[in-house]
This record gives sequence, structure tokens and C-alpha cells, in this order.
Amino acid sequence: MSGNARFEDRTDAGQALAAMLHGRTKPTTDDVVFETQALCRQFGDAGTRVDALRDVGLSILQGEFIVLLGPSGSGKSTLLNILGGLDVPTSGSVRYRGLELSQADEATLTRYRREHVGFVFQFYNLISSLTARENVQLATELVASPMDATSALAMVGLDGRQDHFPSQLSGGEQQRVAIARAIAKRPDCLLCDEPTGALDVQTGRQVLEALARVNRELGTTTVVITHNASIGRMADRVVRLRDGRIEGIDANARKVGASELDW
Ligand code: ADP
Repeated sequence: MSGNARFEDRTDAGQALAAMLHGRTKPTTDDVVFETQALCRQFGDAGTRVDALRDVGLSILQGEFIVLLGPSGSGKSTLLNILGGLDVPTSGSVRYRGLELSQADEATLTRYRREHVGFVFQFYNLISSLTARENVQLATELVASPMDATSALAMVGLDGRQDHFPSQLSGGEQQRVAIARAIAKRPDCLLCDEPTGALDVQTGRQVLEALARVNRELGTTTVVITHNASIGRMADRVVRLRDGRIEGIDANARKVGASELDW
């Protein structure tokens, strides 16, 4: 199901993606990882109804780095949860490479999450009695051909920290272990909900650098939630949400490195 194979290397893939995002070529069905149409999610009932998402239409392409930007309560987590098969819409369509997630049964959604999606949340949820390497290994036990834990930790710059326990690591390092855990099963897409929300600027940048490297070198389609507009500068496209609607989508002519960001 991965769309990467047809590219010789990541440079070709990056150039092909840029050509599509800037309108020079048209994406084919194979290039589209997610597509939502008229997506709505309501919570509560008549008296207490909240429209968390209203009429959201969005396509996300293979290899894209997307930032979902919006104030608290604008629907970012709801959208990410639906893309990740953790929640289903009230109405409308959400497809992952042609699989209609809104119609999928629980077993299909479980398999989808396990095989194709890596999640990173604000809080790292590492197991405190396991080392960094063991935390990563544990997540790959049910996976057919995982990356080995040492390579996954090296990818996020933690080569020297494999045998450390979470309590011996800083917040930013723990978050990078969480990223290594998510990528070790070689997911097609990485969905990150406020991954730098609990971190200071300096460590936040290191976490974002790790995400950018995974996106660039493994070609993992990446969606990052933030309420911080500065982080949008490292994305291919910024999707701005407000009151459950897409307010606008901006393609960056030039992505900046995470080390250049400030907030
Ligand atoms: P964001 O991630 O942008 O902060 P959310 O997607 O978490 O926004 O929430 C969007 C809206 O939906 C908010 O008004 C929130 O209170 C509401 N909401 C989210 N999840 C639930 C839920 N499980 N039950 C009721 N309301 C919810």
C-alpha cells in the first residue's frame, strides 16, 4: 500500500511532491493518502450539540508534511483522530488510499491503525520500567517487518540513549523516543497531536527536527497539530482550522528547517 516504491530515491519523491503542490503536475489517485469530503463530526445531542468539524474537504498527498493550525477548540484533534481511525465522522467521507474509514468495522480500523498509522501525542506515554530501546521494541511486536529499535532511535538522534530509562531522559528526549516508537513499525503516515506542547523552544525544535528528518528520509506522510503559527513554516502546507471549518490552506514556497523556527 505504500506509494514510495515507485520513486528511485527521496530527492525524486520530494521534487514530484513539490511539482504537485505548486500546480505544475496533477496528483494521481496513487499520490493521495487521505481524502475527506463534506466531513462533519458532532458531539452531544440536540440541547448540547457541538459541531467539532463542519464540511471539511481535504486531500493529503504521499510524503507531505502538513501542519494543522488553529486555536483551541477549532477541531484539530477531532480531525486527526478521524484520519487515524480513532474516531468516526457523523457524516461525510474519509478515505485512506481508497479505504472508506467512515464505513469500516472495528476490526478493519484496528488493523488500519496497527499497520499504517504512527501516533505521537503531547505526553509521551512511555513505560517507565522499560529502557528507550525496550519501549520501541514493544511497539513492534505485532508488526510484520519493523525497523530495528536501534535504527529507529538513531533516526531521531538518540543513538547514545538506548539503555536509558524514561526518568533518565529529558522531556524532549522522551518525546523523540515516542517518535522512534511510532516510526519503528514503518507506518505510511505519522499523526502528531501537539508534539511540542509540553516542551520549551529549544527542545521543541529538536523534536520537530526529528519529525522533519523522518518525513524527508523515510517519506512518511506527516500531520502535525499545533496552535503555534511559527511551526507552519516547516510544512509543505498549512491547513488553518477555525470553528470546525477549514479557513484556508497555504502552500509554502520554501520550507524552513526546524532550527530556524522561533516562538
Ligand atoms: P482542538 O484540537 O482544535 O483544540 P478539538 O477537536 O479537541 O479541538 O475540539 C473541537 C470541539 O469539539 C471543541 O468544542 C470540543 O470541546 C468538542 N469536543 C471534542 N471532543 C469532544 C467529545 N468527546 N465530547 C464532546 N465535545 C467534544
